[in-house]
Amino acid sequence: MLTIEEVVELYEKEGLVIIFKQINKKFGPKTLAGEYNTENNLNNSTKPPEIIIYQKMIENQKDLEITLLHEFIHARNDLILELDKENDTEVEKEAVETYKKSPEVIEFIKDFYCLKKLNFNP
Ligand SMILES: [Zn+2]
Repeated sequence: MLTIEEVVELYEKEGLVIIFKQINKKFGPKTLAGEYNTENNLNNSTKPPEIIIYQKMIENQKDLEITLLHEFIHARNDLILELDKENDTEVEKEAVETYKKSPEVIEFIKDFYCLKKLNFNP
């Protein structure tokens, strides 16, 4: 499961940022709710790694929180664990498990990134 220590490391060592966008993004046949942008890590980019939340696709608070956890797990797998391959179904399972068993992790993320006031489908 994702831990608070990993969230702190992603912020302090990697400079991970969260960006909210109002537009939708289609990725293959599906429209994304969230995305971990790995492109910034390539080509010695000076831009920080980012998590993008496509706000129009988010239905409610729980959906937002699980999407955030899911994208943080992608970021951790890439930047801390340096996994070459990951299985998106496993990432989603871990996100749901973290949401249920370690609710303090998403609360910490919301405090840490000042995400207290959010609205859905604006
Ligand atoms: Zn994913």
